[in-house]
Amino acid sequence: MKTISILGSTGSIGTQALEVCEEHNIKVKALAAHSNAKLLAEQVVKFCAEYACIFEENKLDELKSCLAGRNVTLLTGMEGLKTIASLDGVDIMLNSVVGMVGLVPTLTAIEHGTDIALANKETLVAGGKLVINAAKEKGVNIYPVDSEHSAIFQATQGNSMNRVKGIILTASGGPFFGKTIDDLRDVTVEQALNHPNWSMGSKITIDSATLMNKGLEFIEAMWLFDLRPEQIEIVVHRESVIHSAVEFEDNSVIAQLGVPDMKIPIQYALLYPNRVHCDVKHLSLTDYGKLTFSKPDYETFKCLTACIKAVTAGGILPAAVNGANEQAVAAFLSGKISFLGIGELVEEVLNNTQNKEINNVDDILEADRAAREYVAKRILERRF
Ligand code: NDP
Ligand code: MG
Repeated sequence: MKTISILGSTGSIGTQALEVCEEHNIKVKALAAHSNAKLLAEQVVKFCAEYACIFEENKLDELKSCLAGRNVTLLTGMEGLKTIASLDGVDIMLNSVVGMVGLVPTLTAIEHGTDIALANKETLVAGGKLVINAAKEKGVNIYPVDSEHSAIFQATQGNSMNRVKGIILTASGGPFFGKTIDDLRDVTVEQALNHPNWSMGSKITIDSATLMNKGLEFIEAMWLFDLRPEQIEIVVHRESVIHSAVEFEDNSVIAQLGVPDMKIPIQYALLYPNRVHCDVKHLSLTDYGKLTFSKPDYETFKCLTACIKAVTAGGILPAAVNGANEQAVAAFLSGKISFLGIGELVEEVLNNTQNKEINNVDDILEADRAAREYVAKRILERRF
């Protein structure tokens, strides 16, 4: 029986991962959330977790009262996440928090020698070099949870990565596929949150609407599979049935298909290398009838272009672009900026950041902080 801990257990990925744990008898040692103390406590009780961390310190009392009389170690803040990331007796830590805050716990788990199931893509975008190098040094496995990266991982099983020519990274295109800049001027939060194929947390849903998500995934793929930018082709595939594909030396292309349901990649990461029953719908290709493919619109969707430029330049730029996006998405969700403002701000940060090499985690955290500060200041200065 495997034992896991989950950072971000109350979110979209976290709750689905707990369903996988329930179905497959995976023992849950520790759980962490940001501020949803009530749901976290319910999960801790249901799965008999020994540790619970609520990041927001002012929610600790609520968590304490929900778990009164139970033998659970309660934690808070970044120290709490780091404690969970360095527990003994955990086979895999699922990192499914949203945002750059996942970086330090990921590095802590690697330092401790614990394998990671990684949904938190911002970790690799901002700190890919450090994370991958540390994992190699410690012999730690990073199992991708993101559906595209899981597809690539699945397609390469039994094949040598040396024989990979490139990958096809599929994109649903989000709710605004085919729209022009003019069409997107008055997009509301509600429209942007209405994803055609996937039900996810709000930050990644906005990232999918701006195509920032595909830019983040482009960078994530480079680090996970040791690829150069020119080895990655992004293809818009509206049906989200082909989750991505790998092209090999002989021009054979192997893809992974399935209904759009995150349970499959979550389960594959947690139970690797076993393939067992998964509680998702059967894929009927004849119900779909046809699958479609087209090129992304790099001009309208500025975030995607910014990510590719950032990772091609390297250094701190991917961390800066990611930090700018996190700040801009939060501003959009709270009604402070327009939908197009997100792309404009991300592009501005890319163009105004003095690039430098990453030598340690502080370089990444500083690039993230500076980008967020820049965005916050610009939002006060003018309307986006
Ligand atoms: P959600 O917003 O649904 O959930 C985020 C989770 O992280 C919640 O449990 C939240 O707690 C927790 N959290 C946030 N900040 C902290 C913190 N500082 N400390 C501890 N916990 C924290 O996001 P998703 O599940 O949709 O996405 C999670 C990650 O997975 C993202 O990086 C996303 O890009 C990636 N991903 C998601 C997919 C999906 O289908 N949803 C698909 C592929 C990748 P609380 O509930 O208390 O706020
Ligand atoms: Mg994805």
